[in-house]
Amino acid sequence: MQSRAAGSTTDPRSASDSGSDWTDITPESCERPGNSSDIVTTSRGSGDHVDFAYISQSSNSPSNRRRRPRGQFRTTEQREKTSATRKMRACLRCRMQRVRCEIDDSDPSGVCKTCRNIMKPTIHKLPCVRWILTDCALYRIADLGYTHRWLDWKMTDISDWESEEIRVSNMRCTLLPSFSIPIKFRRFVPREGDLMRRSWYDNKEKRSISVTPYAIASMSETANELSTVMDEKMFDYLHDAVANTDKFIYNTYAFARQHIKRTTVKEEGVLMRNVLRICFAVHFSGGSAYLEGDDTLDIPLATDPSYNLCGKVPYPPIADTQLDLILFSKFYQPLQKLILDGLSKLVMSNKPQYWTTIYLVTFMLLHNCSVLTWDRYRHARKHGTKERYTLPRFVENLHRGANILLAHYHYYKGDMHLPEIDWKQRHTIRLAHLSPPEFGFFIRSTELVKEKEDHIRICLEYDSWEDELYFVSQMFEKDWSPRELFKSPE
Ligand SMILES: [Zn+2]
Ligand SMILES: [Zn+2]
Repeated sequence: MQSRAAGSTTDPRSASDSGSDWTDITPESCERPGNSSDIVTTSRGSGDHVDFAYISQSSNSPSNRRRRPRGQFRTTEQREKTSATRKMRACLRCRMQRVRCEIDDSDPSGVCKTCRNIMKPTIHKLPCVRWILTDCALYRIADLGYTHRWLDWKMTDISDWESEEIRVSNMRCTLLPSFSIPIKFRRFVPREGDLMRRSWYDNKEKRSISVTPYAIASMSETANELSTVMDEKMFDYLHDAVANTDKFIYNTYAFARQHIKRTTVKEEGVLMRNVLRICFAVHFSGGSAYLEGDDTLDIPLATDPSYNLCGKVPYPPIADTQLDLILFSKFYQPLQKLILDGLSKLVMSNKPQYWTTIYLVTFMLLHNCSVLTWDRYRHARKHGTKERYTLPRFVENLHRGANILLAHYHYYKGDMHLPEIDWKQRHTIRLAHLSPPEFGFFIRSTELVKEKEDHIRICLEYDSWEDELYFVSQMFEKDWSPRELFKSPE
């Protein structure tokens, strides 16, 4: 991850180069997720996941067909047990196999009776976990503390402007080397609590550079422009972002682009596009932002070589908080729900036909987790903190989500182990339906993981959570079980 190009000046690709891949991608709009026919709609509130197993099956999910109607409980005892399981959540294995999850009364939070009874060496050795996909965190939510203006975290425009004048400057970011977007800024009256400096640690002391009081003039307008830019050229920006990463990562993103074009199942295409949107947003908000162009809002060029933006014009912190608000309201929050509901529906159907999409979606979300972890590691070093990560609770939660994704993926794939598949005999396995480009992709991915065997072993042994292969390589582990991940000291 350290090899990421920090703000190279690669020219953005021409729109004509990419248009054909993405013009069909009209977002099932992030702004009105409830209106899309591709969405699993539930009555579940954002924090109420207790009944997830049942609610998600109340849609037209295939698993619903086997469910006994509520009135058909045979005994009161059975009803009470089901109610207790709902409170506890059914374990993942019981949900996948659509059997009753029998809680052990002597150890209600331990291994369920159903799992204990079916634990045979022939069945993969995954533990009994009561995890659900909608508990995953796919983005950084925490406020970076640059201002107290938006305590409600709503996209409300600034009202105390100092000037009518609108100035346009190009915003760029270090994790998307070819990306650039013109943003309209306006001068505001700073308030107590507004951070008007950009700071870093030079290995001895904290240093900083002053910025001028400019903020985004209209957050909703910028959100719309960002959405348009994202959907027009998202893949090219992501391509350039992963171009310098490991070949295994790069090949997967490249194949995801082809898979989107080939897939004929609408819900798979929508899910893949939404995952790529969140990947774009995570790269957009990671690393450092800076300004470029004829107008850089009178902010001086950074000249201190100890600053990672030396030679560039730093982006003002208040406007940075505005970008966080835009991402959270218009992209992250709706996309996370659409993605996790969509993935859950495919995984819980337990159908092999979704294999390639489930593989790619899990892969990209796990890679996102590495990007976000690396970004917190980078941020902690930049500011000279002794802790491994800034926002440690967020990182702990993020890692918990990675284990949840891996657990669902491994339950879904069952005892099928990619490195052991005899592809010449593919007509005899669950993946017999794969097209030549698909099985070719899995053969190549397996080879690339094998080439990195030593690197991956060291990453796993030494808890190298920031490494971009740390999470995705675990998709290739036989008899995977959840690892101990980062624990916040807070
Ligand atoms: Zn169970
Ligand atoms: Zn269980």
